[in-house]
Amino acid sequence: MANIENRCPICEEGELTAHNSFEEQDYRGQTGNIPFVYSECAACGSEQASTAQARANKRAMLAFKKDVDGLLTGQEIKALRRRYNLTQAQAASIFGGGPVAFSKYESDDVMQSEPMDNLLRVASQIPYAVAWLAQRAGEQTVATNLLRESFSVLRTQISKQYVSGHFSDGFNLKRSNPSVMRYEQASAANDIEYPEAVFG
Ligand SMILES: [Zn+2]
Repeated sequence: MANIENRCPICEEGELTAHNSFEEQDYRGQTGNIPFVYSECAACGSEQASTAQARANKRAMLAFKKDVDGLLTGQEIKALRRRYNLTQAQAASIFGGGPVAFSKYESDDVMQSEPMDNLLRVASQIPYAVAWLAQRAGEQTVATNLLRESFSVLRTQISKQYVSGHFSDGFNLKRSNPSVMRYEQASAANDIEYPEAVFG
């Protein structure tokens, strides 16, 4: 007889073996091969999904739907949040959605709304927008750190354009430009590398 954890709840005799498979699913006219986990009983042959397996299957299906709908995946949202060094609670405080929103988005338990998706894409491209929202949400430390990073990026861009001798619009920048000199001095202490935006 199988041990109690692995015993089939249907025939109460056989041992269950877990299987990893793929299942073809259609969503909005697109077909995907979705990861699918289930267990099979050695005695009665019934195929069944435990609560944990059912949850994993539901998440895999939701990830596929996000992909078809053009929404950021749970993994992409997690990467974005980590890039800004935010906890899930801070991210919810800054972007909204409720206290457990980011745990649900990131685990593909819940599909974020289109406005939330757009907001996160803006956040991905424009650190200053995140700093502004953080300030507004009262996350002062987050706001200060992000502002420091945004200025560092801006300074790097200005230096690059200065080295190449001109801005892309053809405007020539002289080394003696006092506002640039002041700007360089003010931001010299904050030389933080900022990674390229992750999402296209
Ligand atoms: Zn069975």
